[in-house]
Amino acid sequence: MMSEKNIDFKDYVASIPDFPEPGVIFRDISPLMANGAAYSAATDQITAFAKERGVEMVCGPEARGFIVGCPVADRLGVGFAPARKKGKLPRETVSVKFQLEYGEAELFMHKDAVQPGQRVLIVDDLLATGGTVAATIDLVEQLGGIVVGTAFLIELADLHGRDKVKDYDFFTLLKY
Ligand code: AMP
Repeated sequence: MMSEKNIDFKDYVASIPDFPEPGVIFRDISPLMANGAAYSAATDQITAFAKERGVEMVCGPEARGFIVGCPVADRLGVGFAPARKKGKLPRETVSVKFQLEYGEAELFMHKDAVQPGQRVLIVDDLLATGGTVAATIDLVEQLGGIVVGTAFLIELADLHGRDKVKDYDFFTLLKY
C-alpha cells in the first residue's frame, strides 16, 4: 500500500495533446480514478480542506465534479448536490447561463438541493477559465447557500480561472 507522501499525483494524470481540439492539452484524471490508493489520497486532501471549513454539503458540476466530489461528501458524512446540464433534473430548478471558450452553456440545480445558510464546498476535477465554477457558485448562492470553498484536482494556472474565485477559499492538488 502506497502512503500518501509517496504519491506523485502527476503520475496519475494523462496529458493528451490536441484533444478535444487542436491546441488544447486535455488533462485526463482517469488513471487517478483507476488507482485506489491515489484516488483515496486525493479524496483525503480535499476532505481535510473541507473539514477545516465546516462543510455541510458538497456540490459539483456534471460529470467529473461528481467523481471528485461524491467520495468527499461520503468521507464528511454530508450530502452531495449535483449541478447538471439541461434536461437532466426532473423537478423545479434554478439555472445559470455562462460563456465557454466557444459558445454558451447552461447549468441547473434542483431548488431544494441546497438549504439557505448551508455551508457548501464546490468541487470539480479541473479549473480552466473558471466559467464552470463561477456558474456553480451562482447556483448555490441563488439557493441561499454559503460557499465556503472551492476545490480542484488540477488548476491550469495560465488561464487565470482563479481570478473568478478570488473571493473564496481555494484548494488545488496539482497545477499545470
Ligand atoms: P472552465 O469552465 O473553463 O474552468 O473549464 C472547466 C471544466 O472544463 C471542467 O469541468 C473540466 O472538466 C473541463 N476542462 C476544461 N479544460 C480542460 C482540460 N484542458 N482538460 C480536461 N478538462 C478540461
